[in-house]
Amino acid sequence: MDAMAPNTTAPHWSVRLNRVNRIASYLMLFAILGAHMRTQTPAYGPYAWALLGLQFMVYPHVAYWRACRARDTRQAELHNLTIDSLLFGIWAAALGFPVWITFTLFITTTINHALYRDPWAMTHSAAAIGVGILLAVAIGGLHFSPATDWPATVLCIIGLTLYLVIVANVAYTRNHQLHRVRKQLQLDEQALQKQLDEINTLQRQLSDQANRDALTGLYNRRYLDSTLERELARCQREGLPLSLMLIDLDHFKRINDTYGHQAGDEVLKQLAGMLSAQARSADVVCRFGGEEFLLLLPNMPQAVALERAEQWRSGFAATTIAFGEFRIQGTLSIGLSSYPGHGTSPQALIRSADRALYCAKTEGRNRVVVADASNPMPKLDT
Ligand code: GH3
Ligand code: MG
Ligand code: MG
Repeated sequence: MDAMAPNTTAPHWSVRLNRVNRIASYLMLFAILGAHMRTQTPAYGPYAWALLGLQFMVYPHVAYWRACRARDTRQAELHNLTIDSLLFGIWAAALGFPVWITFTLFITTTINHALYRDPWAMTHSAAAIGVGILLAVAIGGLHFSPATDWPATVLCIIGLTLYLVIVANVAYTRNHQLHRVRKQLQLDEQALQKQLDEINTLQRQLSDQANRDALTGLYNRRYLDSTLERELARCQREGLPLSLMLIDLDHFKRINDTYGHQAGDEVLKQLAGMLSAQARSADVVCRFGGEEFLLLLPNMPQAVALERAEQWRSGFAATTIAFGEFRIQGTLSIGLSSYPGHGTSPQALIRSADRALYCAKTEGRNRVVVADASNPMPKLDT
């Protein structure tokens, strides 16, 4: 951005606030210094009065205009505060340091620095006042006339009181603004957190849906592909066995044909429910295809898997599934393969289980067959 380009955004709040405060307090100082100068002998000439008018009636408007045009309006306002201190130093020294007036000028400009900058800025103000005094002394010489008449003194007391009220008001306004902004920030943060939670929940639901089969609610093949690879790698690392069970409903087409497709769906759901209910928490139960299910059984040796498969097969054969007025019975054929005996890769293990299932079908269905690498691939009778 061009450093000389005038500012087009709204000025900093301190600029706007100080516009009113500076105009009002400078008017008060005009009255105070005027009341003092009136009583002095020899009387001040027209130049001194013109300077007083310029300083306290015109300058506040120039300061505001200057700050508004600056690129960094806050920084410009801080410069204005420093110029205030410098000019007050000049006026105090030029008037011979009248006690009440000097006190009023110095305390107000110093507190202004602390108020709009930070407490350490008081030293900044003191330095600017010092430079102002030195300038005035260098031009007009050093002289002391510390007394102030009662009108100037009374005006100083009124001015200081008003100034303190203004300071208290500024502090209150700022505190109030800060409190409001903090509260709004808190609310915004809470709303944002709520939105984030909702997004996370939706994301979890979406990714869960992408991994689930809509009819049975079991994991789908997509999920199995990633999980089988991970689980097999883990079992290989830890030297544990792993078994795969491929389950297929026997003559399922007949069930569909006899009782209808919806009855077939019900059978699939019941079988899925039975498998999920009886599986261990570490097992992964998937719908592998139409009426085929695959169970991934980490840390389960072949002998135990065979026992479980037999239980499920006989359990399902003894189960009657009610669908409307129909009582449906079905049987399962199960092919079993285990790591490391029947393969060391996901593909090899699935292929072995598939072959074993094929054998179970050819051997008459309603049975469990453990994979055997030497098994031939018999023709499937229909
Ligand atoms: P086999 O004993 O040799 O496995 O015979 P099958 O009839 O079970 O096997 P086949 O492959 O001939 O037929 C499978 C049937 O499963 C055909 C298909 O319509 C049905 N099927 C697949 N998915 C669904 C489903 O989601 N719902 C229903 N109701 N039927 C399905
Ligand atoms: Mg099938
Ligand atoms: Mg089938």
